[in-house]
Amino acid sequence: RIVYVHGQFVPEEEARIGLFDRGFLFGDAVYEVTAVIAGRMIDNDLHLARLERSLKELGIPLALARPDIVAVQTELIARNALQDGTVYLQVSRGEADRDFFYPATLAPRLVGFTQAKTLTGTKAQQNGIAVDLAADPRWQRRDIKTAMLLGQVMAKQAARARGFDDVWLVEDGLVTEGASSTAHVITADGSILTRAASQATLPGCTQRALARLCAAEGLHIEERAFTPAEAQDAAEAFQTSASSLVTPVVRIGDRVIGDGRPGPRTRALQALYLEAAGVSV
Ligand code: PLP
Repeated sequence: RIVYVHGQFVPEEEARIGLFDRGFLFGDAVYEVTAVIAGRMIDNDLHLARLERSLKELGIPLALARPDIVAVQTELIARNALQDGTVYLQVSRGEADRDFFYPATLAPRLVGFTQAKTLTGTKAQQNGIAVDLAADPRWQRRDIKTAMLLGQVMAKQAARARGFDDVWLVEDGLVTEGASSTAHVITADGSILTRAASQATLPGCTQRALARLCAAEGLHIEERAFTPAEAQDAAEAFQTSASSLVTPVVRIGDRVIGDGRPGPRTRALQALYLEAAGVSV
């Protein structure tokens, strides 16, 4: 695989990150994952807008304009002949002797790589997945997409050990989001619910794109938080992310959702999203 490290495309074996990189020592870095389907990036403008926002929130002054970043992504896709998968970007604040305080002069570091992976027509998308419910262990600024992901790693690993495919996180009696996805439920009267943007969750690009598609179809996504009990009583449930697209959820904790198969409204949303992404369904 050819990867990108600080301005150069190199074979992954030759890639070197400094020991004093703050991304490594403090998790002082932000990242983005863009889906690639048939060689084309999906919703990439939304991902790069969110990257810019994350950088701004942390005061990391990346001196690369959006077209320069797109050029890196495009080159990674081309050099790796990537058809289906993801392109990952990470910007760390830079390298400096270890200290919580950082000098104003640090040069941010951009790295990137691709991962080949089938994104469409997966078993999870066809049959749906089971998600556990667990207390949200993360910090208070989940709107920033930082590389500090230990809460998600622990929550997902614990869910898998309990026999689930993934986990939805809960705080103050409300579902925040999936450990690496946006959580949605569809009520018996057909309302599609997802939590409104705040510092409690990462604003999902896939959710944003889906909401736009829904609006164009005259379908409304109601932005409000829901409880774990509401989720378990829902007619249908699904989660969205760049790498999982629209994935039906057919079990939440110990409760089967609907008849245990992906519901018709979720199927329709899946088809709507895939069609916009240029996938024939
Ligand atoms: N929420 C969290 C915590 C995530 O990690 C992700 C994606 O990885 C999402 C939501 C979904 O965001 P997107 O649709 O932009 O991939």
